[in-house]
Amino acid sequence: MLNPKEIRKDFPILNVNVHGKQLVYLDNAATSQKPNQVIDTLTAYYRNYNSNVHRGVHTLSIKATEQYESAREKIAKFINAPSDSLIYTKGTTDGINLVAHSWGLENIESGDEILLTEMEHHSNLVPWQILAEKNGATLKFIPVTESGALDLSQLNILLTSKTKLVAITQMSNVLGTINPVKEICRQAHALGAYMLIDAAQSVPHMPVDVEDIGCDFLAFSSHKMLGPTGIGCLYIKKAILETMNPVNHGGDMVKEVTLNQATWNDLPIRFEAGTPNIADAIALGTAIDYLTELGMDQVQAYEEHLTTYALDVLKGLSEDFIFYGIPDPTKRGAIISFYSPEIHPHDIGTVLDRQGIAIRAGHHCAMPLVNGRLGLPATARASFYIYNTEEEVDMLVDSLKKTLQYFNR
Ligand code: PLP
Repeated sequence: MLNPKEIRKDFPILNVNVHGKQLVYLDNAATSQKPNQVIDTLTAYYRNYNSNVHRGVHTLSIKATEQYESAREKIAKFINAPSDSLIYTKGTTDGINLVAHSWGLENIESGDEILLTEMEHHSNLVPWQILAEKNGATLKFIPVTESGALDLSQLNILLTSKTKLVAITQMSNVLGTINPVKEICRQAHALGAYMLIDAAQSVPHMPVDVEDIGCDFLAFSSHKMLGPTGIGCLYIKKAILETMNPVNHGGDMVKEVTLNQATWNDLPIRFEAGTPNIADAIALGTAIDYLTELGMDQVQAYEEHLTTYALDVLKGLSEDFIFYGIPDPTKRGAIISFYSPEIHPHDIGTVLDRQGIAIRAGHHCAMPLVNGRLGLPATARASFYIYNTEEEVDMLVDSLKKTLQYFNR
């Protein structure tokens, strides 16, 4: 089992005081904290070998290029993908938009259907709304059951020969539900549809193997997995990537340029026009090293343990709060959304903050799920990572009790 007490020593921010209390950071689904190793990689780049990549013949540029490309290799290996199928992006949102603007615009036609779910983050919804409107396609949605799972009994009705793309989150950022993407992908492919996975919440917290899942596209963000903001990755199956046109044009992504035309560079850098986010890509490589050393099986097992503990101790508050998501901790990630009919989630978040506890309150960029399906104005959400402890879960419970007292409940 991971030892969170040891892990915590690598995260300087966990010693910060908030309102005179040591920070209890339970907003990891929004963004994770960063270990010294990642912070040091960033400063080492800027202190020692800051330089542009792919174009210099001087020592610093060669080193920056080597580090940038070796990070790509590490990240690709982490999800079992070939490195020439892994594009650096700004994050999950950017990756999904790239697929929509390149492959989507050219391949999704009038009459086609795009199958999503009711639990998607806006990042995996709005780009498809725009595309569907532009190209005359129809959006369909797999419903969410009362317990917070996908209602897969609907899949063989919703998935038809008209379905061109199935785009699904592997882990809900509101309910924590882990969706059976491999099985959905198999059924999508059987009907000739393509499969995109929003892996923003899954890649940081569990082993993800694109070869095993068989998906065509998979996007994730560095900042949710110990890495810096502003960088993420998009995996695209090689045979599809070879047919796709870049959406951004300029330096680095071209091979030959004349006054009137240009040819594209090799994969994947033909999709990375301009000077890329070098420092953050290299630092994401360090985050990958950190997680690889811990072992993603271990990360998942620890989070399952902590979620089991949290769900158990939070039961004591079930008269005052409704807790959402599948009760079985093996079928969900370390994300717990809750709601009190008496106290607005923003008030809960503010009172907890006064006690040094950071949680998230809102619709979590999933308005159709929170406002629509759950019928709530917002939820409060606690989300855990490798450095969170049972003591912190206890502090959350105590603080929620104090919140109830504060509001005279
Ligand atoms: N998809 C899911 C499930 C998420 O939780 C998030 C972020 O919260 C995103 C997509 C968007 O990620 P980013 O803001 O890093 O692009």
